Amino acid sequence: MPRLLRPARVLLLGPPGSGKGTQTERLLKHFEIPGISSGDILRRHIKDGTEIGQLASSIINKGKLLPDDLMTKVVASELRRRRWLSPSTSWLLDGFPRTHAQAEMLDSQELEPAKAGMNLVVELQVSEDAMLDRIANRLVHVPSGRVYNLTYNPPKVPGRDDITGEPLSRRPDDDPAVFRKRLKEYRASTEPLVEYYKKSGDVLWSVAGETSDVIFAQLEREVVRRFGERGDESSERDSEAAGAAD
Ligand code: AMP
Repeated sequence: MPRLLRPARVLLLGPPGSGKGTQTERLLKHFEIPGISSGDILRRHIKDGTEIGQLASSIINKGKLLPDDLMTKVVASELRRRRWLSPSTSWLLDGFPRTHAQAEMLDSQELEPAKAGMNLVVELQVSEDAMLDRIANRLVHVPSGRVYNLTYNPPKVPGRDDITGEPLSRRPDDDPAVFRKRLKEYRASTEPLVEYYKKSGDVLWSVAGETSDVIFAQLEREVVRRFGERGDESSERDSEAAGAAD
């Protein structure tokens, strides 16, 4: 049984090194909702040596973005494969849409026809120093997308994934020069995206904080406020009084 009373279709926005991956993992685990990360999908393509993977690896290593139409196709096919294009399903997208054009394509071609529009867009706001520190200390387990931080969340065995014991790696784009490029690209592409969601009713919500615990506590409260949590009777009463939220 889903933990939330109403379906949550969530997008997380945050610059590289903002802790977006960590917040995503915590949200998915806490509320038991499924999620997909466009970066993880691409890293899997690269690992499997597909045609998309070959194109993606050269673009990613330069800190650039993949073309909007290709990226939309890749994610839309994943949404269809998982049967998420439905008004009753909760899910979370991490890393997509990342540009105004991607958001428009996703809405008009996939979400609106399925009556499954995004109903929460979270914008993570973190200082540049905190971001630089995070990327310098980040390790990932590519097959699962699990993220570790050598300071806040180190693996139990150095260099090994906690669950599978497989080796962890550094992302080739977690290099300070590439990081600065990604940050610039992020700002240029995300500001119009934030404007787009500002116009889409009450979906955009921004949160600031220096640590992942501080941010997560606020995020958790906001998700419960919007979608209600099973077992939380006051929220159940509120939702009955207010009717369906979307
Ligand atoms: P991420 O793991 O989200 O930081 O993504 C890693 C890289 O994958 C990005 O720096 C981009 O090169 C590429 N990428 C991921 N998502 C997208 C997207 N929505 N649009 C274009 N490129 C993307």
